Amino acid sequence: MIKSINPYTNETIEKFKQDSKSTLSKKIKLADKTFQTWSKTDYARKKTLMLQLAKELKKNKNDYALAITREMGKPISQAVAEIEKCAWVCEYYAANAKSQLKPIEIKTDAKKSYVRFDPIGAVLAVMPWNYPFWQVFRFAVPSLMAGNVCLLKHSTNVMRSAENIQQAFLNAGFPEGCFQNLIIKSSKVEDVIRNKRVKAVTLTGSKAAGSSVASIAAEEIKKSVLELGGSNALVVFEDAKMDETIKTCVQARFQNTGQSCIAGKRLLVHESIYLDFIEGFITEVRELKSGSPEDEDTFIGVMASEKLAKELEAQLTSSVEKGAKVILGGKRSKAYFEPTVVINVNKKSPLFEEETFGPVMAVTSFKTDMEALDLINRSKFGLGVSIFTADLERAKAMVPHIEDGAVFINEMVKSDPRLPFGGTKESGFGRELSSFGIHEFVNKKTVYIK
Ligand code: NDP
Repeated sequence: MIKSINPYTNETIEKFKQDSKSTLSKKIKLADKTFQTWSKTDYARKKTLMLQLAKELKKNKNDYALAITREMGKPISQAVAEIEKCAWVCEYYAANAKSQLKPIEIKTDAKKSYVRFDPIGAVLAVMPWNYPFWQVFRFAVPSLMAGNVCLLKHSTNVMRSAENIQQAFLNAGFPEGCFQNLIIKSSKVEDVIRNKRVKAVTLTGSKAAGSSVASIAAEEIKKSVLELGGSNALVVFEDAKMDETIKTCVQARFQNTGQSCIAGKRLLVHESIYLDFIEGFITEVRELKSGSPEDEDTFIGVMASEKLAKELEAQLTSSVEKGAKVILGGKRSKAYFEPTVVINVNKKSPLFEEETFGPVMAVTSFKTDMEALDLINRSKFGLGVSIFTADLERAKAMVPHIEDGAVFINEMVKSDPRLPFGGTKESGFGRELSSFGIHEFVNKKTVYIK
């Protein structure tokens, strides 16, 4: 049985029977059969269904959000916002997929030559628990609009959410095989990737999981997209707007109780404003309300499991041994971790070098733009960077030298259906969202007519 356990109360919420070998095989065959018709379905029909799905999400947002909150401890108001964002991505691709998938004519010596974007078949998505709906929707919506069908292998701790997503697709009127949830553990993923009816795989999660999935896909010569961890830097220059920047940096680190790949995990502050900035920052962090994830005004819930909270505690302890100093928080109780601010973070300590997936901010100072660049790029991850300054030319001059997949100036890094999203280095490869995302799982077919 796969269990959903409420990390706040430690109660088992629900148990799910794993798919047997024959059930799994039936689901994959159904996906393949559905692809034969779905890939030929006209755009208008796909658009209608996608808009219907957006309505379905809005109608049920409170129920879906409550299931998320109970399964992984996300504060309820943030869970509702997550469902609303999923409705947005449905509406975005309903409006834009047609033009994004329109063949592109290229002038050559042919009478006519062009590129078509044709669907490839069933795509497997291995997804994490931190945004149980959003991570799935940002892959599934463009994939379906491109004419593919989706198989989901969700984190085992959010299986109710996975079932709710499947039900939302069915309620919206999608044919049964368009989106199916596989109730399996990670040990079964290899067989699914190797199945000849499965054409590609996308994974969001840790490096270990990504490396395993992409290796198997490579052996089968199947396409993979990886959206892995991050350790985004928030770079604050001496001329940044103090209050506004503090508020944005607090959001960037602590929303979703710090469990986000694009969270700002390393705060790099210019030495001339270091003390003032830190004082303002901890004042703001003290205001964050911890409490029951089901309370409307809770901002910091519990982490998704006690195990993850203990891992974060170990990273903090080891960093303190290497010279870091906790100036706020630092304590853990079961799956709850106090909002924590740590200064003097050594470049060789886990808080700087590793991904910290919880409410701990690591603060370091810098003197020059060159030093800031070095600190940004020193990370083995490359998801995104935020730069805060009144001098836009100074920030723009840094952009070409930053190795990450995104640079946000005077704003936190966030995903937006209209913009490509993805990383470099150990943060993975490929892009999601926008026209770049919809083109990941299509056959870019060259047509040449003499
Ligand atoms: P994992 O990467 O282990 O889990 C993410 C998904 O991958 C789950 O569906 C999981 O399934 C599956 N999975 C895990 N191992 C394999 C494997 N070998 N083959 C195929 N599928 C696999 O993340 P965790 O939940 O264990 O979190 C650990 C750390 O990963 C976090 O602390 C954080 O640093 C990072 N992470 C990053 C995320 C991001 O958004 N980039 C999201 C989540 C985690 P199952 O549940 O069955 O194990």
